[in-house]
Amino acid sequence: MRYVSTRGRAKALKFEDVLLAGLARDGGLYVPESWPAFTKADIKAMRGLSYPELAARVMQPFVGRSLKAGELVQMCADTYAGFDHAAVAPLRQVGRNQWVMELFHGPTLAFKDFALQLLGRLFDHVLTKRGEHVCIVGATSGDTGSAAIEACRGRKCVDIVILHPKGRVSEVQRRQMTTVKEANVLNIAIEGSFDDCQDLVKAMFNDQAFRDSMNLSAVNSINWARIMAQIAYYFAAGVALGAPERSFTFAVPTGNFGNVFAGYAAKKMGLPIDHLVVGSNSNDILTRFLTSGAMTMGEVVPTLSPSMDIQVSSNFERLLFLALGRDGSAVEKLMNDFRASGEYRLPAKSLKAIQALFEGRRFDDAATKAAIKGIHKLTGEVLDPHSVIGLAAGLECHDYKRSTLVALATAHPAKFPDAIEAAIGLRPALPERLKDLHSRKERFETAPNDLAAVQDMIRARVAS
Ligand SMILES: *Cc1c(COP(=O)(O)O)cnc(C)c1O
Repeated sequence: MRYVSTRGRAKALKFEDVLLAGLARDGGLYVPESWPAFTKADIKAMRGLSYPELAARVMQPFVGRSLKAGELVQMCADTYAGFDHAAVAPLRQVGRNQWVMELFHGPTLAFKDFALQLLGRLFDHVLTKRGEHVCIVGATSGDTGSAAIEACRGRKCVDIVILHPKGRVSEVQRRQMTTVKEANVLNIAIEGSFDDCQDLVKAMFNDQAFRDSMNLSAVNSINWARIMAQIAYYFAAGVALGAPERSFTFAVPTGNFGNVFAGYAAKKMGLPIDHLVVGSNSNDILTRFLTSGAMTMGEVVPTLSPSMDIQVSSNFERLLFLALGRDGSAVEKLMNDFRASGEYRLPAKSLKAIQALFEGRRFDDAATKAAIKGIHKLTGEVLDPHSVIGLAAGLECHDYKRSTLVALATAHPAKFPDAIEAAIGLRPALPERLKDLHSRKERFETAPNDLAAVQDMIRARVAS
């Protein structure tokens, strides 16, 4: 299996190079040259597999010869053994032909663990084989930083440095990052905003000398391997609920479009999906696009679902590439238009194809709180502000006679206790593994919003 760039100019790479590269050199994102396809019989044969076995089967065609089949199975077994539910991704029924898939039983209580826990292991495997070492650098406003740190802590071939805006992430989110003890983890609180942190990371990648001397790498959501790992739970839900004989609507709370794109990939690979519902908060660029066909940039506003406070969904470029018939130069032109004018439009035919599959719904904070309350009353389930947007969007679009609804629950409610308390007057408790989070010792450095100061700090730590 080889991967091509959505901008059409970078050379095609094999899995392990795509894993380490993240972004393509022409600024595009990697997608598989063709989709591996599972037949109805292949899907039936997945019945009764454990989650790690099923995940390995779904991912094997993508990793090609980079890992032997046995190695991938073992790696998946290790990865998902760290989740604290025996089903890994349990399903709960919430209505007639309507289900929630809980993707928050990993170490940091968000669905990002599904991909990042595997990514940490994949990096170690490939780097060990090559005798290389990398320094992963990233910025976080919340969930991604802790999931990435948790995935990389203690790994031999990786150092990880995460920048967060000082005083601007929640207590639980900060402590999940800063109470990790391993020496290969460096947290830096930047005296600035999340955008300042992101700018510092970009500046470090643009400083060629620094980039090369530190061997910088990234695990952000445009990394193909993250999408790949997420495809597996779509198959797991489908197989458990009657695929290939029944068809599915998946509802996904969406920010960067990585999670829902994995659903699109599952469809391409043969899972019977007839609808993908995108749930947005007030940052609704995607839901507006799905209605009007115009992608128009707006201002980011803070909401109760911070992991979806995004205006530009970087993974959407993958769908564009496919909707435009894999025409990289057409994608590049749209992206340039977007950068220059803050807007682009799709040709009518491509838009129609997207609208036939995707549907969007938007929930502002008041509607999010009302949905938390409504779902709790109806089912007794307590959903976090991200997950509830997915389910509420799904319920609005779902026809129970035609398909089975699966709404993806992306975070544990205990990560957002204030929002839950405001909606239903209950404060969800942290699960057992994080019970003592508030008494653990924190370790982090503080730096001014200054590139040279941050680079010195990283050099001092990583060299030692
Ligand atoms: C990251 C995140 C999302 C958004 O997922 P995308 O793949 O960026 O669309 C939704 N919910 C939670 C809890 C997240 O952490």
